[in-house]
Amino acid sequence: MSHTPESQLTERLHTEAKVRQGAFLQALAALDAPLALTFEQIGADEWADHPALLAWPQLQSYIIKLKQVDAALCQQQLGLYGLCSDCEADISREQLYQDPCRQRCSHCHAKHLNSQQASWAL
Ligand SMILES: [Zn+2]
Repeated sequence: MSHTPESQLTERLHTEAKVRQGAFLQALAALDAPLALTFEQIGADEWADHPALLAWPQLQSYIIKLKQVDAALCQQQLGLYGLCSDCEADISREQLYQDPCRQRCSHCHAKHLNSQQASWAL
């Protein structure tokens, strides 16, 4: 893959958002169907912080994915999408295409993983 145009990245992020939101809603509907209906009425950007979700800790992994995609969509609105959250370098388009919610360039990503491993070792 040589060059991924901006519009394709935008579409990729929005598709990823829909997939994650759909998976979350399906998981929620299996646990609490009335709450899932309520969520369909409110904006998806309000889902992740909704207090009713405290009752369902098993949804945590879905909520983390929602928050990642929310953050990426918000960065896109601000024109900051694709910038490393640590050093503000451009993240390569190929990497963004693979993981639209990626927050760090290769360099900072590796550093971040190392620091996480270091804190687990303690
Ligand atoms: Zn960086």
